[in-house]
Amino acid sequence: MNSVSIRYLTSLDLESFISAARAVPYQGVNSDLFPGVEVWIRRDDLLDPLISGNKAYKLFYNLLAAKEQGADTIITCGGAWSNHIHATAAAGARFGLRTMGIIRGERPPLLSATLQDAERFGMQLKFVTRELYRQRNRPEFLELAELDAINSLYVPEGGANLAGAEGIRLLGEVIERTAPISFDQLWVACGTGLTLGSLASSVHRFPVHGVEVLRAGDSIRRDAEHWIAVLGTNRDWRKGSIPTKAFELTNKYHCGGYAKYPNCLREFQQDFEQQSGIPLDPVYTAKLMYAVSQEAIGGRISRGARILVLHSGGLQGRRGFQPRK
Ligand SMILES: *Cc1c(COP(=O)(O)O)cnc(C)c1O
Repeated sequence: MNSVSIRYLTSLDLESFISAARAVPYQGVNSDLFPGVEVWIRRDDLLDPLISGNKAYKLFYNLLAAKEQGADTIITCGGAWSNHIHATAAAGARFGLRTMGIIRGERPPLLSATLQDAERFGMQLKFVTRELYRQRNRPEFLELAELDAINSLYVPEGGANLAGAEGIRLLGEVIERTAPISFDQLWVACGTGLTLGSLASSVHRFPVHGVEVLRAGDSIRRDAEHWIAVLGTNRDWRKGSIPTKAFELTNKYHCGGYAKYPNCLREFQQDFEQQSGIPLDPVYTAKLMYAVSQEAIGGRISRGARILVLHSGGLQGRRGFQPRK
């Protein structure tokens, strides 16, 4: 599949969202970067040009909840290059909700491309002290930020709440129904454990492998287990197994930490993009593909395995990195 048409999420209801998710293409990759394994990519970067990747799924039920509650504003927070801030601003503009983005630190003279877009989409940016930003997961945060008078729905950083997890569970259900071949493994990039845990609780036919993109200690594993416990699981094929066995996780490919972009990763990304024609982002999906490549080269994935990799979007974040020399 080489030509892919551009689609837009046009209306905010379950049926339209599921049909958009079902139309996301699966693309086989022919490349010597993955010796001995068959690699396919599910292109959720193509779900919508602006409300892209896993952030679209995390937002879906949050947007519905805002509408149902009669809230007129979504308030959320994130960093200067946040895919979540970008998607939230775009979704608010598309579906008629005001948006406010709480950003750590002082407003810089020149905004990042991400935050420029967000303002262009109509998001109001509110820059807060580091001290205040640190309180962002406390129930009284909006009060502390003096935003409690707004008729709003607060969505935590990254879309990491129950509605977000339920949206990713929907993605897992769609993957089960639309997978074009029977896969042996699903691989995903992890910033937290939400996408991993929610997929592990909804994809029953094959195990989910997470690739940590930052030095996170034990927190991603614990977070994934938390979401599996919250969402529950009905995976028949491992009835009785403990939830910690529902996924695999590797921390070998963070390449030095969050948003670190060493030459080996840059060169890999360049080779991959040239061979496949599929663009990646340096923070998440490049590390994910790099992990699959290294594991295949090292013989740690069994020969002939059919690997599905989730392209979780994030392409707007490419602008935060220097062009290749
Ligand atoms: C946010 C993000 C992730 C990580 O999602 P988690 O649920 O926090 O693990 C992965 N890929 C992309 C492109 C993202 O923007």
